[in-house]
Amino acid sequence: MHEVSIVSSIVRTLELEFEEAKLERMKAIHLKVGILSNIEPRLLYNAYQAYNHPGSKYHQVALNIESVPISISCDFCGHVTEVQQYKFSCENCGRPSKNILTGEEMLIHKVEFED
Ligand SMILES: [Zn+2]
Repeated sequence: MHEVSIVSSIVRTLELEFEEAKLERMKAIHLKVGILSNIEPRLLYNAYQAYNHPGSKYHQVALNIESVPISISCDFCGHVTEVQQYKFSCENCGRPSKNILTGEEMLIHKVEFED
């Protein structure tokens, strides 16, 4: 299941980024997951249970997932459109566009620590 490897790579990234003492004070991880990213937030939450079950190292750390909508920019008029129902056309001039600005990403947006 690919969500499991995504979660372990997130944890590995944080472990490389922050020192042990800081990781112990980590209280929340905020992710941004584009709706075109092929990542199912529900499965990501499930996969994260391996890290925050009672007694585990990150049991106190909450996972927050924010869904990022699809947006496209138009080659003709430059307008940015938030895509609804997978209609990849400019809401200003009606021309089709495949210039995707957001919606494909999966990133660690923010990490919160206890004071
Ligand atoms: Zn346009």
